[in-house]
Amino acid sequence: MPKKLEHIGIAVKDLDASEELFTQLLGVKPYKREAVESEGVITSFFALGDVKFELLAATNPDSPIAKFIDKKGEGIHHLAFECSNIRHELLEKSEMGFQLIHQTPKDGADNKEIAFLHPKSTNGVLTEFCQEKLTPVDHKTQ
Ligand code: ZN
Repeated sequence: MPKKLEHIGIAVKDLDASEELFTQLLGVKPYKREAVESEGVITSFFALGDVKFELLAATNPDSPIAKFIDKKGEGIHHLAFECSNIRHELLEKSEMGFQLIHQTPKDGADNKEIAFLHPKSTNGVLTEFCQEKLTPVDHKTQ
C-alpha cells in the first residue's frame, strides 16, 4: 500500500511567474529547482506541512507537460504517493488490473524513483508512485 500523499504535481506555463504566485499563496518559498531532461521538464518544489507541491514547466514543445497544457490548460497534473517498495507496488497494482505507464521505476526529480499509472485506470487521475532513492555510500570518508 502507498504510505501517504507525497506531492501534488501542477503543470504551469511560466515557472518564474508561478513560483511567485505559489510563494504568495502558500507563504513559503520554493526549496529547489531541478530539470528532468528525459521528460523535458523543469520542476520547482514547495513544502507545506507534510505535502509538497511540484510545479512542472515544459522545456520544449514535445514535452508531456507542453502537451498536457495544450489539451487541458494549466492545473493539477498528477498526485504522487510515497511507497516503501515501489517495485512491489507496481507489480501488485498491475496484477489488480491497473494500467501502468512505467513497468519499472525510473529516475525522477527530488532524489526519487518514480513510475506512473495510466489515468484511464484511475478515474482520470494521473497517479505517480515514488520512493526515495537510497543514499549512495560515500567510501571516500572511510
Ligand atoms: Zn511528481
